[in-house]
Amino acid sequence: MVLAMGCREKTRGAIKIPGTRAAGIYTAGTAQRMLNIKGELVGRKIVILGSGDIGMIMARRMTLEGAKVQAIVEILPYLAGLTRNKVQCLDDFGIPLKLGHTIIDISGVNRVEGVTVCAVDEDRAPVPGSGEYIDCDTLLLSVGLIPENELSVGAGIGLSAGTRGPVVDQFMETGLRGVFACGNVLHVNDLVDNVTRESEIAGKSAALFAAGRLPELRHVNTIAGEGVSYVCPQQIACGQQEAQLFFRVCRPMSQVTISAYCNSGEIAFRKAVRVSPGEMEKLALPGKAVGAIDGDITLQVREEQK
Ligand SMILES: Cc1cc2nc3c(=O)[nH]c(=O)nc-3n(C[C@H](O)[C@H](O)[C@H](O)COP(=O)(O)OP(=O)(O)OC[C@H]3O[C@@H](n4cnc5c(N)ncnc54)[C@H](O)[C@@H]3O)c2cc1C
Repeated sequence: MVLAMGCREKTRGAIKIPGTRAAGIYTAGTAQRMLNIKGELVGRKIVILGSGDIGMIMARRMTLEGAKVQAIVEILPYLAGLTRNKVQCLDDFGIPLKLGHTIIDISGVNRVEGVTVCAVDEDRAPVPGSGEYIDCDTLLLSVGLIPENELSVGAGIGLSAGTRGPVVDQFMETGLRGVFACGNVLHVNDLVDNVTRESEIAGKSAALFAAGRLPELRHVNTIAGEGVSYVCPQQIACGQQEAQLFFRVCRPMSQVTISAYCNSGEIAFRKAVRVSPGEMEKLALPGKAVGAIDGDITLQVREEQK
C-alpha cells in the first residue's frame, strides 16, 4: 500500500486571529477553487497572510483577475516560499511584502472592511505602537499545510514531529511493513518534481515488497543537526542502496557546507551558495557510504567562515 493523501490547509482557527467573523475570509485554496471551478472572484481589495508559494501565486492570480492585492503579510523575518516566486509573482506586479509582520485584528461587521497589521519581535509577539490599518474587503489565509494523516494514525503508523508525516526509510517504507508513503502526506513539498522522485521510489519499493524482494535491513536514524529543521527520510536501511536525504534549513544562510556524518566520520558533503527554509534541499548518500554506516546519521549545515 502506498499512502499519497497529500495535505490540507491551516484555517483561521489554527492560527487564532482575533477580530470579527465577517464574510470575506478564505483560505487560498478555497479562493482558488472558487475561481477555477465556479469562475467567481472572492474579492476586489485583498490582503494575503503568509508568504509561502501558494500565497504568492494567489497574489499574482488575483491581480491578473482584476483584484488589487494590498499586501502580503509574513510573520517570519524572511520569505517562506521560493525566491523565484517572489520575483515572478510579487516584484513583477509591484505587490508589497511585509516581512516580520502579522495581522492582529480583522474589522467589518457583515463583510471584512480592513485588517490591522503590526510588526513582531524575535519572539513573534506584536510590537506595541506598530499597528497599521489596511483597507480591504477580503483576507486570504495561506498559513501552511498539514499532511493528511488520519488514515496513517488509524493504522498505527508512527509520525515524525518534524514533518508531521510518517517516519520512513529511503525506500519510503513506513514503520508498518509493506506500507509506503510519498508526497505531501510525508512532508510538505514546494516542487512537484521532488514529489515525483519520492513517488517513483515508493512505487518501485512497493513492487519489490510485493515480489518478496525488498530486504529487511538494520535501520539507523537520521538526525537534524546544526542549521537543519528536519530530515526526510528519518531512517536509513543499511544495505548498499543509495539514499537521498531531503531536508529544510532553520534560517537563510549563504556559502554553506552541507555534511552528513556518523560515528566513523563524514559520509557525504556538498557546498551551496545560498539556502533558505522555503526551498527544500537534498543530499545524496552514495550506496558505498550507506553500506559503511556505523550509527545514526547527523546532517548539518554550516556557513563557511568569512
Ligand atoms: C496552490 C498551489 C500551487 C502549487 N504550485 C506548484 C508549482 O507551481 N510547481 C510545483 O512544482 N509544485 C507546485 N505545488 C506543489 C504540488 O502541487 C504538490 O507538492 C503536489 O501536488 C503534491 O502531490 P501529492 O500527490 O502528494 O498530493 P496531492 O496532489 O494533494 O494529491 C493527494 C490526493 O489524495 C486525495 N485524498 C486524500 N485523502 C484521501 C482519502 N482518504 N481517500 C482517497 N483520496 C484521498 C486528495 O483528494 C488528493 O487528490 C503547488 C501546490 C499548491 C497547493
